[in-house]
Amino acid sequence: MELNILTLCYLIGSITFILGLKMLSNPATARKGNLIAAVGMAVAIAGTIFLYNDKEGNGLHNYIWIFGGLAIGTVVGFLAAKKVKMTAMPEMVSLFNGMGGACAGLISIIEFGRLAEKLSADGGDTESTGILITIFLGVIIGSVSFAGSIIAWGKLNGKVKDFSFPGQQILNTILLFIMLCIAGYLVVNLNTANAYLFYVILTGALVYGVMFVLPIGGADMPVVISLLNSFTGVAAACGGFLYNNKVMLTGGILVGAAGTLLTILMCKAMNRSLLNVLIGSFGGSKATGGAQQTASGGVYKEISISDSAMVMAYANRVIIVPGYGLAVAQAQHVCHELEKLLDEKGVEVIYAIHPVAGRMPGHMNVLLAEADVSYDKLLEMEDANDLFKTTDVVLILGANDVVNPAAKNDPASPIYGMPILEVEQAKTVIVNKRSMKPGYAGIENELFFQPKTSMLFGDAKSVLQQLVNEIKSL
Ligand code: NDP
Repeated sequence: MELNILTLCYLIGSITFILGLKMLSNPATARKGNLIAAVGMAVAIAGTIFLYNDKEGNGLHNYIWIFGGLAIGTVVGFLAAKKVKMTAMPEMVSLFNGMGGACAGLISIIEFGRLAEKLSADGGDTESTGILITIFLGVIIGSVSFAGSIIAWGKLNGKVKDFSFPGQQILNTILLFIMLCIAGYLVVNLNTANAYLFYVILTGALVYGVMFVLPIGGADMPVVISLLNSFTGVAAACGGFLYNNKVMLTGGILVGAAGTLLTILMCKAMNRSLLNVLIGSFGGSKATGGAQQTASGGVYKEISISDSAMVMAYANRVIIVPGYGLAVAQAQHVCHELEKLLDEKGVEVIYAIHPVAGRMPGHMNVLLAEADVSYDKLLEMEDANDLFKTTDVVLILGANDVVNPAAKNDPASPIYGMPILEVEQAKTVIVNKRSMKPGYAGIENELFFQPKTSMLFGDAKSVLQQLVNEIKSL
């Protein structure tokens, strides 16, 4: 009976994960989806704690450790999620993902320890090959994910700098090969004398995780985080195999598959192969660009608040291009106010969303949803690109790399090949940012020097507020 209730808990958990994931694919249902999956996870955890029995009929007993860990994790997770700024979300995701990888790795370490104990007690008895393979996969993938995610976290918050040296990729490949060879050897020959080699693999995997992420360029971090996320899912699925725990298996597979799909989609959005991302150093801290330096002495012109207000108020269509700066300024609410105001004046207002605008996948969608911007007003890149030709004004708010024409025109540019929002096709382009400094990829933007473009300097929130006041008085 107890087992049946536990199976039911796991079924509820699995169904809510799938349902939650499906709902996460639409901004309108994403919050509810997240909540539903969290409730399912709580049911699965509670079921395991109170109803699980092993083959001998023993339930869990380390309740102080379990509830101590749960309490600490809940408090830390709750406070971190409450306090985190939207712009620091990728860092938090990376850190939490690292914790998931560490948990999966720890499962393998503990299970290997048990196996080694059994071996010494039974004098050379071998465990089934399948379990050993799963343990090795779990420890390698989980440790790579943990170490890589911590480096990614450090890079995103600026504490860790890109680092690479000639032949690093070859060295990484050799390291991986050695780990796999030792694991293969142990699968066939494990005994008490060579069990220590397991810890060589563990150390190798941690080093590999660090070396794997260190050289990757800053602008490629979202892809890498998504890839590491899929690693954590696969490592967790290995834990599910080890414990024959179906909900852990389902959860791990879903995370692994979702992470892999997201990685592929993001590579596609940047028009690059995964291999190129992993060895390309795109937008790394080595990228030069010279902040505040104009391209080959390029000249830019400025526009005033009142002129900008006038141009927009009398336009037929205004397309707003939000970017990272809008998130930094937390200007989404006043941006929505401007949109409504223009709307009342009969101006069609649309938002053009680039898939890697901001600092995390879907950043702009989340940001604008927070301000209750209607989803119908958000256009994906391809659709927006069809409309620019017939648009009077494009208002760029704290975006830079995602509108940089060098991605199309300059084969020497590190972002060459990345699809961009082709704003320069519109009649007038107004760019709001605080200075002529480059964006994330660290390169100058020739758009700012084109005749159609005017710079509207200032913090996005303050500039938008002034625009709102100005348009109200027109
Ligand atoms: P960028 O980082 O290219 O540019 C943002 C611009 O915003 C800067 O040039 C900055 O200029 C301006 N800005 C900063 N603060 C403010 C403010 N308070 N008010 C007004 N402007 C401000 O952003 P994009 O969104 O165009 O491009 C995203 C970049 O980030 C891409 O290179 C992408 O690959 C990368 N990336 C994306 C991730 C994702 O998953 N979406 C994750 C990690 C990186 P100034 O200082 O002069 O104000």
